Amino acid sequence: MEDWKVERRKKRCTVCERVFASEEELCSCIVEAEGAFSRRDLCLACWERRTSEPFSFWRTRMPRIRERKLEDIGAMVEFFKRLVAAPSEDPLRRKITYLVALILMRKKRLKLAGVRAAALLVEKSWDGDVAEIPEPAIGDEELQTLRVEMEKLFDVELAAEAAA
Ligand SMILES: [Zn+2]
Repeated sequence: MEDWKVERRKKRCTVCERVFASEEELCSCIVEAEGAFSRRDLCLACWERRTSEPFSFWRTRMPRIRERKLEDIGAMVEFFKRLVAAPSEDPLRRKITYLVALILMRKKRLKLAGVRAAALLVEKSWDGDVAEIPEPAIGDEELQTLRVEMEKLFDVELAAEAAA
């Protein structure tokens, strides 16, 4: 758990440290190293010069200054696709996959298609297929901690709509 720390989107490029301009296009990446995920935000020049492929990435744009950030749920869908495409026995990975599935269900990108012993069956809105998501052993407190980390990864606010 302690290893999985992420930071909110920086106002500057992770590589060259140049400060992003209002509405500048950039590339955000989720990088996996030693079982942990972290986020990198690259200016397009640094993105073109990358030497390795991230786990997941998406093009984004700095918000107009003073404009409220919009959640990028599409980024979370991409992340989820990668998680499902590369199933892992790693307990943390399974917890993350489960949590992302819960979030995407609330966002109507996944639909509960059934419940199996210790697993959720979810129908994906983008291809109609059903994925099986094992339910991890996770307490409410740890779930909440992970939820905060997901908010930081994807710049979304999840708490405000909890238990709506
Ligand atoms: Zn850069």
